[in-house]
Amino acid sequence: MATAASSFRDAWQSVLQAVFPSLCACCGEVLVQGERQVCLKCLGNLEYTLYSPHDDNPAERMLATRMPLVNATSLLHFQQESTVQRLVHAMKFRSNCELCEAMGRQMGLDLLRSGRFDDVDLLVPVPLHWTRRLVRGYNQSELLCRGIAQTFGRRVNTTALVRHRYTRKQSRRKATERERNVSGAFSVRRPAELQGHHILLVDDVMTTGATLGSCGQALATVPCLRISVAALSVAAR
Ligand SMILES: [Zn+2]
Repeated sequence: MATAASSFRDAWQSVLQAVFPSLCACCGEVLVQGERQVCLKCLGNLEYTLYSPHDDNPAERMLATRMPLVNATSLLHFQQESTVQRLVHAMKFRSNCELCEAMGRQMGLDLLRSGRFDDVDLLVPVPLHWTRRLVRGYNQSELLCRGIAQTFGRRVNTTALVRHRYTRKQSRRKATERERNVSGAFSVRRPAELQGHHILLVDDVMTTGATLGSCGQALATVPCLRISVAALSVAAR
């Protein structure tokens, strides 16, 4: 039963929404009550991979040669000029932190339904170099982890894996340049925090797998560590 306080809060939120309407991060339409960050129509129209229940899916094949991998998945297909690209752009460049967490919650629900990630016990975001994090003000992969934790559970570790070398943006680079750009860019500063765990390494976009592979190589130096991967979106099919 609704309490007086919750009724008041709902009424106040309705007033705020009428004066300052929230807009869908994908289509720009006004969100209605119950919608957060992305309207239900856009959420339904996103191109889902449906990879998570399947072994040997394209995300796994992309990463399996790069690191000792348990399982991998990606929630969405990424294509240029698509709704997913607009979504990722809003997460990275428009400071939409709530959207990052909202998409993390969707990833968490997908992982829950999959059943293949049940023994993961720690969420680890792909780190940004500290200067990029300072400029952006947040790490979108860390916020994805916080969203995953809200629906899938598990702790988030943001300190053990670090990007110790500043790398140029990957988005416009060819595959061989991407490899060179991120090779050796990551290291594990606190291996004891990861030892004995089955971690889920989390990123927003997987294109060639170079960044995740470089993280995986650094993580593979930790004894008794198992690694699975979840990306919000993947460019491969
Ligand atoms: Zn929309």
